[in-house]
Parts: sequence; C-alpha cells; structure tokens
Amino acid sequence: MSAATNYAKPLPAINALTAPHWEGTRAGRLHVQKCKACGTLRYPPNPWCAKCRSDGSEWVDLSGKGKIWSWCVFHRPYFKGFESEMPYAVVLVELDEGIRLYSNLVGVRHEDIHIGMRVRAEFQRATDEVMLIKFKEDK
Ligand code: ZN
Repeated sequence: MSAATNYAKPLPAINALTAPHWEGTRAGRLHVQKCKACGTLRYPPNPWCAKCRSDGSEWVDLSGKGKIWSWCVFHRPYFKGFESEMPYAVVLVELDEGIRLYSNLVGVRHEDIHIGMRVRAEFQRATDEVMLIKFKEDK
C-alpha cells in the first residue's frame, strides 16, 4: 500500500499556482514566490503582490529557519486523521525572511514550547505527491 492510500489527514490543493511550492518541498526546499517588482515574498502563492499589485513573480528558496511567533495545543480532533496524535501542537512560525506559516513542531514537549524558540524546517512525506513542511527546534 502506498503512502497516498494510508494518509488520513487533510492535504493541500496543488494547482498551477501552488505547484512550484510543492515541487520545492518534494526536493527538501522551502520554495516561495517572490514579487519581481518589489521583492515582497508571497506565501501562500498569489497571482498578484499584496504590496504593489504586480503580477510578476519568481521562485526563491528560503533558509527554513525562523522562530515561533505563536502556538497552541489542540485537544479536540477536528479531523479524524489527527486522533492518534492528540493532543498536538500547532505553531505559527515567522521565518527569518519575514513570512509566517502554520505547521507542527516535532520532537519538543508541549511544556518546552515558547514564543521566540528558534526552529528550522524539516520535510515529512505525506503522499507520493506531497511533502509537508514541519519544524523542529534549532539548537
Ligand atoms: Zn510587489
């Protein structure tokens, strides 16, 4: 049985706009859209820049390093696929390049999580097509 048939959690929608991002994660890179006109990073991908409204963009790799900006612990399984991991932490990470993304923190006890904790991205395979971005403590 492949990973695709075993994975029970929600999966991202991959389309023409988001495909470069997911191709990057499959290669272990945090690949993010950047405005060609003003340099603003766009995450999630967007057809237009929120800052200057330009539709020109390119893709760049980020460091994957950042800090926890906020976090919480889920005690209720809103999706059946998460039941076996209850309770689990959801973190909002601010990358060193300035964008924020939601993810999970792995390998850290909940009581040790704190705002400002240095973290770095790691990639976990969900299906044959999807490699998810997770974070671990960057000591
Ligand atoms: Zn722009």
